[in-house]
Amino acid sequence: MSALKDILLEEIAAHGPMPLDAYMARALADPEHGYYMQRRPFGAPDADGGDFITAPEVSQMFGELIGTWLADLWNRMGRPDPFALVELGPGRGTLMADVLRVGHVLPGFPESAQVHFVETSPALRQAQKQAVGKDVDAHWHDDMTTLPAMPCLLVANEFFDALPIRQTRKTATGWQEICVGAQNNRLVFVPQDIAEPDFSEAAKACLPDTLLETIEDQAIVETCPQGEAAMRQLCAHIAQHGGAALVIDYGHATKACGDSFQALKEHRFVDPLEAPGMADITAHVNFPVLAHLAEAADLDVAPVATQGAFLESLGLNLRAQQLMQSSPGRETQIQSERARLAAPDEMGTLFKVLGVAHKAMPPLAGLSLKTDT
Ligand code: SAH
Repeated sequence: MSALKDILLEEIAAHGPMPLDAYMARALADPEHGYYMQRRPFGAPDADGGDFITAPEVSQMFGELIGTWLADLWNRMGRPDPFALVELGPGRGTLMADVLRVGHVLPGFPESAQVHFVETSPALRQAQKQAVGKDVDAHWHDDMTTLPAMPCLLVANEFFDALPIRQTRKTATGWQEICVGAQNNRLVFVPQDIAEPDFSEAAKACLPDTLLETIEDQAIVETCPQGEAAMRQLCAHIAQHGGAALVIDYGHATKACGDSFQALKEHRFVDPLEAPGMADITAHVNFPVLAHLAEAADLDVAPVATQGAFLESLGLNLRAQQLMQSSPGRETQIQSERARLAAPDEMGTLFKVLGVAHKAMPPLAGLSLKTDT
């Protein structure tokens, strides 16, 4: 039973249905009962439990390849010292630990890096502190407004999918917003009539049809105002101070509509309204919107790549071979980790990579940004 569910039922009885983003924000980030505040969500099904597993937790190869990408870019951008090495939503801190470990192959890189984490969960901040070790002087932020005024290299893996979404639906008679209401002591989806959807310019520009009128009847349009705000902050920071960002997440690379609101508990899909605070709730990331915002901020934007193609171009297969040679007995496991990260029927195609950079930056490896110049 979820304590938060009872609290939300009472609030809905008093104030009426709540928009989906308000529900998702409470389910994930309620200071007392929110999913990220109290639970240790990440882990393999057969190891330390958890509800879902992310790429850095699947294999050290993920963080190593991202680390090499970052160190190489830092080298080619003129070795700024100091620079901010930023991660949004670092979870258990595994990615940053792998990045810093592999970063030592390039003298100067770890020494010049000031590590900054943007993380709201106190429990996960503790885990991140442990993961990078006490020798790393890391800094934590509630959001990007307090990042230092210096060039930054930023990574966000499975951060944007955790930000609250809204759902709006077109019907024959007008628009509705999907809200969360109550029925027989259960949380249920209730569409509420609205006059007009209040889509941002970026959201409108990335609808499959450019005209709101031509959207198919009953089509659900998901928007993520908090994700847009985060992307705006990220891009403004890079535009002002220089650097680049890598956003990795599951989602769509082309303009699309549809319902992608989902919950995972113990590696199984569950009803996202069943037990708020007890399951991980996410939605697909709208990459065209993020790319649109980066272009609007005057950044260079690489075409969205798939995770599989990106990691393979950074040398995933070679790294897997090296690891297999140096760890006899683990060949099957390493092969399956490699496939998990890059195979089309696993994370390879569903997960996308968006690279954005200040106009003065050199090409981004593995992404076709400026490759022909
Ligand atoms: N990047 C990690 C974890 C992804 S889970 C990995 O790949 O394993 C999402 C992470 O984003 C968690 O650390 C969660 O606490 C954090 N998070 C969610 N909403 C946030 C917000 N609004 N601001 C900062 N961090 C947030």
